[in-house]
Amino acid sequence: MHLIEVEDLWKIYKNGVEALKGISFTVDEGEVFTFLGPNGAGKTTTIKILSCVLKPTKGKVVISGYSSPKECDKIRRVVTTVPQEFQGFSDLTVRENIEYFAKLYDTVDKVDEIIEKLDLKEHERKRFKELSGGLKRRVAIACGLVGDPRVIFLDEPTIGLDPKARRNLWKLIETLKHMKITVFLATHYLDEAEKLADKVGVIYKGKIIKISSPSELMEEF
Ligand code: ADP
Ligand code: ADP
Repeated sequence: MHLIEVEDLWKIYKNGVEALKGISFTVDEGEVFTFLGPNGAGKTTTIKILSCVLKPTKGKVVISGYSSPKECDKIRRVVTTVPQEFQGFSDLTVRENIEYFAKLYDTVDKVDEIIEKLDLKEHERKRFKELSGGLKRRVAIACGLVGDPRVIFLDEPTIGLDPKARRNLWKLIETLKHMKITVFLATHYLDEAEKLADKVGVIYKGKIIKISSPSELMEEF
């Protein structure tokens, strides 16, 4: 069974913009699925629909056996989204930020494990506002993990990071994979797809133009 199943998904915004024009794809459990496409292709729209933030105009979405939008209350329990614009509480420490989200999910007992797995131990007492861009992203992902998701949606997680911070984030995505979390990664970087993906979906102007393995994709460039 696929963990995510999307069939003929459409999104037409109120202003008439056709952001998604009938996309279909599947993501299997434990996979890193990279959604590759330029700005405006429809990546964020797709993530918003799959994480139940936005209603589709038309189409089928099933996640972990639950249909969207009907069973969004159940879907929200298995997915987590790390948005591009994640803002932590700037005056709270790394640990306090993670604890805040853990309290919402009633999983405070998981905080130590997450801090450890994400290599945040040495940074846990720093205030969010003092962190580098790379560490802020890492904390954003940590805050998402407290909900114990089966799927994590990462929207352009390495945008604006320097090369070293990008490589560290790639390592972190591999850690997520080892934790058996399915990763849905939206990016416009080809090298990110090549490096991390089990499967790549290429989206352009609201349509999926190719779904393949990274090596197959690289042969075309
Ligand atoms: P990406 O994440 O790949 O950059 P988006 O999903 O953000 O793409 O955008 C897809 C298209 O939908 C773009 O043309 C964008 O301008 C448009 N769009 C996004 N959000 C809205 C909105 N709230 N209202 C109208 N159009 C939107
Ligand atoms: P930035 O480079 O923006 O400061 P990074 O996320 O790259 O932020 O890393 C911050 C610190 O954490 C660096 O000292 C880095 O060496 C360390 N670090 C990052 N990822 C890992 C990792 N997977 N394992 C161990 N240490 C890491």
